[in-house]
Amino acid sequence: MATDPGRTYPSELPVLALRQTVVFPLTLQPLAVNRRTSIDSINRALAGDRLLFLALQNTDQDEPDPTELRPIGTIGAIRQMAKAPNGGVHIIVEGIRRAKSDSFNKSDITLNAIVNPLPEAAERSIEIDAYMRRLQELIDRALSMASGLSQELRGLVAGIDDPLRLAYLLSSLLDIKADEKQKILEYEKLTDKLQAVAAALTREIALLEMKTKIESAAQEEMNDAQRQYYLRQQLKAIQDELGEGEKTEIQELRTRLAAAKLPATIGTVAEREIDRLERMTPASPEYQMIRTYFDWLLDVPWSTVSEDRLDPVAARSVLDEDHYDLDKVKERIVEYLAVQKLKTGRSGSGQIKGPILCFVGPPGVGKTSLGQSIARAMNRKFVRISLGGVRDEAEIRGHRRTYIGAFPGQIIQMMKKAATMNPVFLLDEVDKMSMDFRGDPSAALLEVLDPEQNNTFLDHYLDVEYDLSNVMFICTANVLHTIPQALRDRMEVLQLAGYTELEKVQIAQKFLATKAIENVGLTKDNITFHDEAFSTIIQRYTREAGVRNLEREISSVCRKVARKVVVEGKAFKEEITSEKVTQYLGVPRFRNTMAEETNEIGVATGLAWTEVGGEILVTEATLMPGKGHLTLTGKLGDVMQESAQAAMSYVRSKAEEFGIEKDFNKRTDVHIHVPEGAIPKDGPSAGITLATTLVSALARVAIRKDVAMTGEITLRGKVLPIGGVKEKVLAAHRAGVKNIVLPKDNEKDLADIPKNVLDTLNVYMVQTMDEVLKIALADPLTARPTVAETTEPVEIADDTITH
Ligand code: ADP
Repeated sequence: MATDPGRTYPSELPVLALRQTVVFPLTLQPLAVNRRTSIDSINRALAGDRLLFLALQNTDQDEPDPTELRPIGTIGAIRQMAKAPNGGVHIIVEGIRRAKSDSFNKSDITLNAIVNPLPEAAERSIEIDAYMRRLQELIDRALSMASGLSQELRGLVAGIDDPLRLAYLLSSLLDIKADEKQKILEYEKLTDKLQAVAAALTREIALLEMKTKIESAAQEEMNDAQRQYYLRQQLKAIQDELGEGEKTEIQELRTRLAAAKLPATIGTVAEREIDRLERMTPASPEYQMIRTYFDWLLDVPWSTVSEDRLDPVAARSVLDEDHYDLDKVKERIVEYLAVQKLKTGRSGSGQIKGPILCFVGPPGVGKTSLGQSIARAMNRKFVRISLGGVRDEAEIRGHRRTYIGAFPGQIIQMMKKAATMNPVFLLDEVDKMSMDFRGDPSAALLEVLDPEQNNTFLDHYLDVEYDLSNVMFICTANVLHTIPQALRDRMEVLQLAGYTELEKVQIAQKFLATKAIENVGLTKDNITFHDEAFSTIIQRYTREAGVRNLEREISSVCRKVARKVVVEGKAFKEEITSEKVTQYLGVPRFRNTMAEETNEIGVATGLAWTEVGGEILVTEATLMPGKGHLTLTGKLGDVMQESAQAAMSYVRSKAEEFGIEKDFNKRTDVHIHVPEGAIPKDGPSAGITLATTLVSALARVAIRKDVAMTGEITLRGKVLPIGGVKEKVLAAHRAGVKNIVLPKDNEKDLADIPKNVLDTLNVYMVQTMDEVLKIALADPLTARPTVAETTEPVEIADDTITH
C-alpha cells in the first residue's frame, strides 16, 4: 500500500457516509454497511473501479443530508465484500488518499461527490524523527502494561519507516473519538498529525496506569482478609494445642445453657441445637436461624417464679388504692386469693386452678387497669396482649421454624417479657377475635385457657411443650355474645356496667385528677379541682359509660394549667371551677339534659344497650297520605324491624280503643325513623317504644319527654323482659330523664343499680302496653273523642304540634 501522488482518480465517486469512524489512507478497515444509500454506493463502486469516497457524517442520521458530511475524507478501494445475513454487507476497504469533496450530489438513494485528492506532506526532518522515536517508546510502554493492543503491533510498528503511515496506522488502531480522528486526517502538517497521535497514546497509557493501580489496591485488600483468616486459623490451632482456646461462641452458648437451669427435656433440645451449630459455618443462614431459636429457648422462663402474696386483706387494700368502688369485682378477686391460700396452705407460687376471670363492660370502666391492679396485689408480673382483630392462629401459636423470619406466637413472646412463669396475663378484647382461612385463633386460645391442657401448650416455633398452668389469665370484653361459646364456658364473667355521674366525680377527684396532675409535672399546690368542675366535664364534654374521655379532658385542663405555671412561675395556683372548665375546654360538646325539652307527638325516648354502654334512643314517627306502608329507617336490624311490625299490628288491632280511625291504614303511610341514622341498631327491646310512638302519631297525643322506656312487646300487648337494665338506667340518669318504664320481669336487675341513682328516679315496672301508654302519654287517650265518632277523615298534618 502506498499513496500514489501521480495516480489520477475519477472526479465523481460514490460516497460512503461513515458514522463514528474515519478511514485513514494507507490502512485497511472492515466496515459493516446496512443503509440503502451506502449499499447502493458500494454496488456502484463494485460495478466499476471499486473506488469510494469515505466521509464522516456529523450526526447519527440514517439518511444524512449532504451538508452534514465532512468535505475532507478518504478515497478508498473495496478489497473484499461479503453479504451479511441481515441484508447488509461487510466490506474491507483500503484507504488510498486523502481527498476533499467540492460538492455532494444526492438524488433518491444515490450519493455522489466531486472529489479532488489532497496533497500529503512527505518531508523528513529531525523533529519528525524525534516524534517517530517518541511514538515507538510510547507503544513499548503501552504494550508492557497488559493493554488491549496486540503484541503483533510491536513488530508491525517497528517495521514502519514512513511517519505518515505510522501516524495513520496508530490513529486507526487507538481508541480515539471519531472527531479527533477526523482532525488528524484534516491536519495539513505531518508534525501536527504525529503530535495528536502521541497525545492520544499518552492518554491511553495514563488510563492503563490508573486501571492497574485500582486493580492492585483491590487485590491487596483481598489478600489482607485472607491472610488474617489464615492467621486466625493458625492461632486457634495453637491455642487448642495449648488448651487455652479462645472462648468461642459455641462455648459461650454452652455456658449460658448450663446456667439457664432448664428442665431436662428442654436442656436436651438446646444441646442438640448447639451440636448442630457446631457443625456449621457461622456465615450460613441456617446458623443464624438456629442461633435465634436458641436465644428464644433460653430467654423464655422455664423455672423462674415470683413469690405470690396471697394475703386477702393486703390485696383488698391494693385494689382499693387503684380503683374506686367496683365492690363486687374486688370481693370476687379477694375470694379467689383466699381460696388459693387455703388450697396451697402457704403463700407460695402455687398454681391457680379455677375459672378464668373475664371482665365484661363498656370501654373505660377499668377492666385493663383492674388486671394491672390484681398483678400488683398478688405481687406478680403483668403482661397483656390485645386479641382485637386477631384472625390468625399463628399470632397466638407462632409459625413453624421452617418459615423464614418465623417467630413464637404472642403467648410465648409475652412469657419472655414477663420473665416469670406466673405472671398475670391479660387477654384484652376476646370478643373482637375473628376467624378465617388462616385458622381459628379461639381454638388455640381454648387450649391456653384450659387448666387441664395448658401445662403442655405447644407453640409452633418453640416446638417444645410449655407450661402455662402457673399463669393467671384474665380476659376482657365489651360484649359477651361474640365470644365463642366454648371459650365463654371456661370463664367466670364479672360485669362492669359503667358509672353514674356521682361515681365518676368521685373517681375523678380521688384517682384521675391525682394521676393527671402528676403526669404533667404539677403538684396539688398548683391546681385543685372543684367537684362541680368534674360534673361539668361529665355532662357537657363526655357521654360515655366509662371514664376514658373524662380522664382525657382532665389531662387537657392540667396541661393548660401547666403551661401557665411555666409562664408565671412555680407559685402559680389555680382552682378549677365549672367556669374555668368551659374556659379551658371550649364550647361544650353536648347539650345539658333532655328534661328541658317539650312533649311532642310521635317522638318517644327509648333506652338502648350498646357496646359502649347504655344510650338514649329517640324514636320518631310521622304520617303521610298513602296506602298503609310502614317505612323504617335508621339502620334498624332484622329483629328491630320485626319488632316494629309487631308494634304496628298491635296498634291496628286496638285502633278503636286508642281513638284511632279504624281504617287509617287505607289512607295513611307511616314512617318510623330512629336517629342517629348511621349507627346500626338491633334487638327486640325497642318494642314498647315503637308502639308508643305509633299510638302517639296516630292518635295525635303527645308523649312525655321526661319518660324513657324499654321492653319487648307481644302482639297482644304484653311487655317482656330485656337485658342490660343497669346500663340503660344509668344512661337515662345521665341524660336527666326522671321517669323510666321497665318490664316487670326485670325487677330483680334493679338490685345492681346504685341506690343514690334509684332514689332520683321514678321507675315504673309494667306488664302491659296499656300501662306503658298511661305513663308515657301526656294526655289520657280516652279523654279525646275517637276519630271513629267523627265523619271527617283523620287529619294528617305534620306531627310536630306541641302541647
Ligand atoms: P377498659 O380496659 O375498661 O377500657 P381502662 O382500664 O383502660 O378501661 O380504664 C381507663 C382509665 O380509667 C384508666 O386510667 C383507669 O385507671 C381509670 N378507671 C376506670 N375505672 C376506675 C375506677 N373505678 N377507679 C379509678 N380509676 C378508674
